[in-house]
Amino acid sequence: MLLIRCPYCEEERPELEFRHAGEAHVARSSEISDISDEAFEQFFFIRSNPKGIVFERWRHLNGCARFFNAARDTVSDRFLTTYKAGEPKPDVAGLLK
Ligand SMILES: [Zn+2]
Repeated sequence: MLLIRCPYCEEERPELEFRHAGEAHVARSSEISDISDEAFEQFFFIRSNPKGIVFERWRHLNGCARFFNAARDTVSDRFLTTYKAGEPKPDVAGLLK
């Protein structure tokens, strides 16, 4: 069973308690009604979806219910780290070993 560490509860819990919530660090324009249709499409629909390290939002739905971010390797499905929402992307180079 995959265990995911919630940075708020500060413990590893079974993945069944969590829900994936999309790509992390997608900035919403402060003037969303003024942007072009193409810019809105880019913001709303287009995601990077790389092979390798991704930064994702997750929610501890059946726990504290809070959103947090995670760095995960899509090749191995291994979580490199999790961190609280609002914190910057961590440097994951040292975590790849
Ligand atoms: Zn939690």
